[in-house]
Amino acid sequence: MLAQKLKLADIATGDMFRQAIERGDELGLKAKAFMASGKLVPDEITIQMMIARLAAPDCKMGAILDGFPRNLEQARALDKALAQQKKAIDGVVYIKVAEEELMKRLGGRWICRKCQTPYHEVASPPKVKGKCDKCGGELYQRPDDVPETIKKRLEVYFSETAPLIDYYKRSGKLLEVDGQGTIEEINSRIISKLKPRK
Ligand SMILES: [Zn+2]
Repeated sequence: MLAQKLKLADIATGDMFRQAIERGDELGLKAKAFMASGKLVPDEITIQMMIARLAAPDCKMGAILDGFPRNLEQARALDKALAQQKKAIDGVVYIKVAEEELMKRLGGRWICRKCQTPYHEVASPPKVKGKCDKCGGELYQRPDDVPETIKKRLEVYFSETAPLIDYYKRSGKLLEVDGQGTIEEINSRIISKLKPRK
């Protein structure tokens, strides 16, 4: 929604890897080798790919990075690589949601085994419990969305990713937004924070 409204490119690292691998360029082949052996793609390769991606014509007005950086090391390396290109991050959106609420949101997710339609126990429940409205398929929880795994995902978030809040606050780039409410409400909150910057 943001990318469309602000006419920015939307860059998610997962998509970026997939596209580079499809193109079969040098970085794509390197990333493919790591992914094939079940390893994480090293930051150095991800950042090189990001810099190349940002040079594409659709990034002329800027871009939104989704899912990257995820830790301080990546954030510092990204800042450095951007500075070499005389580029910089304008703003970092921090959508603030209480931990309890996060557990509820992540924990209530169910997906149809047949057609993959997502449901949520509270926000968008199916008409019949455990059954897909569209195809009648059985609903299941992804292993990622089981309570114990969610706890672990949140732990990783608090130890690795949450330090970025201070990092970007110090450089005056953090845009803190209340994450309670509908997607549309949160979207307009983000846009109202972005406006005074230009
Ligand atoms: Zn279904």
